[in-house]
Formats: sequence, C-alpha cells, structure tokens
Amino acid sequence: MFCPDCKAEQQWKGVSFIRAFPCTNCGMLLRFNQERVQRMFGIGMIAAAAFLWMAGPILWVALLLWFPLAAAIGTLLDIIALEIKPPRLERYIPRGSLGLRD
Ligand SMILES: [Zn+2]
Repeated sequence: MFCPDCKAEQQWKGVSFIRAFPCTNCGMLLRFNQERVQRMFGIGMIAAAAFLWMAGPILWVALLLWFPLAAAIGTLLDIIALEIKPPRLERYIPRGSLGLRD
C-alpha cells in the first residue's frame, strides 16, 4: 500500500483497519477505503445470518451472535482479500475539522 500523497510504501505494522494512521514518510493521516470496509462487513452480515440459520440456534442466541459473528467474518474476509489485492489508502479528513477543535 502506498500513501496517496507522497507515494511512500506503508508497513503493515503501522496501519490500522479501524482508525486513521499517519503516513510513515509525510505524516498525512490515512485510512482504508471505507466503502470497501463496509462492503466486507455487509458480506459478513449475510454470511453470519446464513451460518446461524444453518446452525439453527434459538432466535435470541442467533440475534446475540449475529453482530459479533458478522464482524469476525467481515474481518476475516478483509484479511484474505488484503492478501490478494492490497487496499487503496485515502486521505483521512476528520469530521468537524474546521478549526473547532485542536
Ligand atoms: Zn505520505
């Protein structure tokens, strides 16, 4: 993966899936393409629903397990997909960053 600004390669140990992280070269805040993260989570939701339906647990157990299971499957798919196709990084612009804070 490369910084969209200075094109410096980013090391895996310095990145985060959830939060923005600074470029190791220029310090620009970067994050993973959120559309992609959401799509993976969507697939995870469907996969989790299918899995729970097949497992056939009681309804409330299914509802309780659905979200964490979806998150787990989504994360797993993301890791698998990262091995195949490295993600695109984008600049992170924090919400409400119009000089109101910091
Ligand atoms: Zn950079």
